[in-house]
Amino acid sequence: MIEFINVVKKYNHDVVALDNINLKMEKGEFAFLVGPSGSGKSTFLKLMIREEEATSGKILIDGKDIGKLKLKEIPYLRRKIGFVFQDFRLLYDRTVAENIEFALRIIEASEREIRSQIKNVLEMVGLTGKERYYPNQLSGGEQQRVALARALSTKPPIIIADEPTGNLDPATANDIFKSLLDINSRGTTILIVTHAKDIVNNLNKRVIALDHGKIVKDEERGGY
Ligand code: ADP
Repeated sequence: MIEFINVVKKYNHDVVALDNINLKMEKGEFAFLVGPSGSGKSTFLKLMIREEEATSGKILIDGKDIGKLKLKEIPYLRRKIGFVFQDFRLLYDRTVAENIEFALRIIEASEREIRSQIKNVLEMVGLTGKERYYPNQLSGGEQQRVALARALSTKPPIIIADEPTGNLDPATANDIFKSLLDINSRGTTILIVTHAKDIVNNLNKRVIALDHGKIVKDEERGGY
């Protein structure tokens, strides 16, 4: 589902953000990507959605070499990957339902599909009944659930999250991780960048650790 082959990413010709990365994630896997600040985690995620391009090497998503995609094909790649950010990135002048609707309009979903997906994804993240709320009427954890619902609405086979619980208290963070595990159990491949050490240690999932742009650990049932 996700494969990095000898991937190098340099910024400005001299900053080596990723240094010969080789990694494979199978469909339906759940993994944490950890490492100190500056180790290359965000770069790794940005390469997956072609927000940045690899300097050398190959990245396959769903068997496709994404380095070969033409500009007009990039939206198709991004439909395969739902992205969740630390700061939620919701539209604050729109309701919960409208935030999700927005994502579905971009992929030109039908009116029927929009209605049914809003209902489905809010149910999946436990926010049924909050359709007409505005984001600032919700707690941080609920706002992150909206962001998660929005990412799920277009049914991407992969979800990637960049410190999704970085702004949340530990109990709320726990709930968000529970939702992510639940989504994973329905078949979605999930990769999460996190500093939530306790959660990583408790969940016993695959842990990939980066340091100075290299993979320094990759354990099937790892810890932080
Ligand atoms: P992390 O997400 O683990 O904190 P990053 O992927 O953001 O790491 O950064 C990895 C390295 O690449 C760091 O040395 C960082 O300073 C550098 N870097 C990241 N983005 C850029 C950029 N746009 N221009 C130049 N250097 C960058």
